[in-house]
Formats: sequence, C-alpha cells, structure tokens
Amino acid sequence: MTLRPLALAALSCAFATLARTADLPATAPAKADDVRNRVAGKLAADYPALEKFYTDLHLHPELSLMEEKTSAKVAAELRAAGLEVTEKFGGFGVVGVLKNGAGPTLLIRTDLDGLPVQEETGLPYASQTRVTNLAGQEVSTMQACGHDIHMTVLTGTARMLAAMKDRWSGTLVFIGQPAEEIGVGARAMLTAGLYQKFPKPDYAIALHDSATLPTGTVGTVEGYIMANVDTMDITVRGIGGHGAFPHATKDPIVLAARIIGAFQTIVSRETRPVDPAVITVGSIHGGTKHNIIPNEVKLQLTLRSYSDAVRAHTIEAIRRICRGEAIAAGLPDELMPVITVKDDEFTPATYNDPVLTRRVRGALDRWLGKDNVRTIDPEMGGEDFSEFGRTLDKVPICLFRVGAVDPAKVAESQRTGVALPSLHSSRFAPLPEPTIKTGITALTAAALDLLAKK
Ligand SMILES: [Zn+2]
Ligand SMILES: [Zn+2]
Repeated sequence: MTLRPLALAALSCAFATLARTADLPATAPAKADDVRNRVAGKLAADYPALEKFYTDLHLHPELSLMEEKTSAKVAAELRAAGLEVTEKFGGFGVVGVLKNGAGPTLLIRTDLDGLPVQEETGLPYASQTRVTNLAGQEVSTMQACGHDIHMTVLTGTARMLAAMKDRWSGTLVFIGQPAEEIGVGARAMLTAGLYQKFPKPDYAIALHDSATLPTGTVGTVEGYIMANVDTMDITVRGIGGHGAFPHATKDPIVLAARIIGAFQTIVSRETRPVDPAVITVGSIHGGTKHNIIPNEVKLQLTLRSYSDAVRAHTIEAIRRICRGEAIAAGLPDELMPVITVKDDEFTPATYNDPVLTRRVRGALDRWLGKDNVRTIDPEMGGEDFSEFGRTLDKVPICLFRVGAVDPAKVAESQRTGVALPSLHSSRFAPLPEPTIKTGITALTAAALDLLAKK
C-alpha cells in the first residue's frame, strides 16, 4: 500500500499554507495547522479499525434493497461514535444525528449497496459472496462501485467530528442510504419523512469514489455533475407471418430497425448542440426462428439529459417517431407501438449548487492543496443523491469525487492508452488507505467550514 499520494497531499498542503500566510493575520495559520494536525493524528490512530471495517464491508456486499447487515454495521459504527441512531428508516436506511449547539444543519450521505458482479480483482479480500437476489436467482456480489469506501469514510468522519466538537457548532445528520444502484433509496428515505422527523439540512454533501482520479486528489464541478436517467420500454407491434411471404405481413423487425435509425436524429438534429442528451437502445428482442416474421419486437432504452426541458423533449420525440414510423409502415391505429416510461425508476439530474460547491472547494483547496483539487467533467451517469436537493425545501447539495486509483496505475494508463477498470467493473480495485484518509479529510474539512463556530 503506497503512502505516496498522501505525502504529496501533505507537501502541497504545506505549500498552500505558506502561500496563504501572506494575506492572513499572524495567528490564523498556526490555528489552522493545529486543527489539521489533530485530524491527521486521529486519522492515523483510527485507521487500523477503519481498514478492518472496510475489509469486512468489501468481503460481504449486499444488493440494493437487501442491505440488512451492511446497514446494521454502519449503524453500530455511528452509535459507537456517539450519535443518536435510527435504523430501518425508508427500507434499510440509517440516520445518525449529532447535535452540538446553535448553527446550521449539515447532512452527509453514504450509500450502502453492492452490485451483482463477480469480483475479479485478485485482492486478498476479494468478495466471494453469493446471495439469492430478489428475483430468486443466486448471484455473486461485489462492492464494484466503491460504496464500501463511502461507508468507511462516513463513519470515520463521524468519529472525527464527534471528537472535535470544540471546533464546530450546529447539527450533523449522517445518513446511510440504501438502494442507490437502482435509484430508489434516497426517495424512500425522503418519503419516510427524513426532513420532517430529523433536523432539516441547510446543506447536503456526499462524495463518490472515482475510477480515474488518482488517490490523494478530489474532483468537483459546479452545476450539473450527473444526468437525468429515464428507463423506457417500447413494444413495436406488427402483423406476423411466414418469412417467405413478407407482403402478407407488417414486419415489426424492419419497423424496429427504422425506428432505431430515426432515434439517432433526436439528439443530432432536434436538440441544441450545447444541451447534452443520450438515447441508447440497450436491448432488442424479437422473433423465434429464421423463417417466421414475429408479431412484436421489444426494445429497452436508457435516456440521459441534464435539463427538464431536454428530458421532456426527448420522450416526446421518441413517442412521435414511434407513431410516425408505424403509420409509415401501414399499421392500423390499434397496433401503434406501446411506450412505457418507468417513472418509478427515474433518477433526476444531480445539480451541484454553485455557491455551496465553491465553499466546499475552498475548504478542500486549503486542506488538500490546490493541486490535489481538480475540476472534473460532468457525466451522463445517474446518482440519486440528487433527490436530497429536489424536495420543496430546495436544500443546496454538493457531490464531489475522491480519487481511488493507485497513481502509478493512472500514469501507466496515460502512457499506454489502456483504460483503467471503470466503476462497476469486476476488476475495479480502489487503493483503500490513501482513498479513505483523503475522503475523511475532505468531508471533515467541508464540515468544519460549513459548521464553523461564529
Ligand atoms: Zn454504481
Ligand atoms: Zn456508486
């Protein structure tokens, strides 16, 4: 396990401190260094226990909506840190509250769930776990998105801030959110009354590990960081028959092909070039045999966008094209394609509140050094952390990335052009120690800034 990134971070931290002393009162840097030394000291002392916790979570991943043991482990850690903990809130959600006098309320979130992936990292603590999923199938599970890193960072940050109550004032709400990977857990916790039954946050922050950033670094971006995610099913209907008598049929396979071709113009010709959108047909199934024209073809789509307007336009355009192409194929009204937008699987775009994000970034710059805080590109992936900012309360939210990759591997990938294993890959192997330490330092820095004593 390399300590190089942390050493680098410490170095740039030292430089950042030197650079700042010029424009701060003489006492300020010494005070800031005191706090950082305290955090670094506690982190070093806590790390062996944190690594044990991480390894246990990594070995035993649970799937979305099945995070019973994982949530109990997170709850136990938060309780041990001295928080008032509620379990099984909105499914297997965990809420830990730490009150410390007057001041704002800050929500910090981790997700809990693993994925149905067979781990192929070759790590000594690689998951061998197999579970029966909710559909009754036996599958391998892996923390392939690094939510075990997030849980360890969250509980480590809770320990840190509970031990530093003299340095902040306000209320902390730590949450363990289930079912992120299927985009329903945040909504379940909010619907259960997260903002009514517990202190309502003035800010909500979260981090997610990155499979491209080196350990020791973090990445932020203001505004949109993750996309609207819509899931859509389309049944293209036709009139089946013998493959040798196509003139007596309305072939849904040809029609489905035309429809998919026409979809390509929604983004390229109908959407403003500066507005991101993605339409992917990820699955197409129709027919049973070489010489039979089937009655229907089924398509499964994922749609991505940032703005509500682009989202609405994309869905409307898909409906229009499906109907238009079916009419062009000569199908009667009762055989128009059937389109289902799965509203219960919708994940809204994650919008990083610019004011909050600038403030968090300022704290990260000071604590990690500017060279270790990168401006990252927004992505078209989805993340239901967005939900915490989408209630009527309009809580400002900020999600940032923490680098999880061995810097030597990042350099090698840049040299060879061979891509690193992505999140969700069976070979995604974050480097635990520097990633966890950087994550805890980053969340602690953000919390101490947002809940600074007046
Ligand atoms: Zn994921
Ligand atoms: Zn994730």
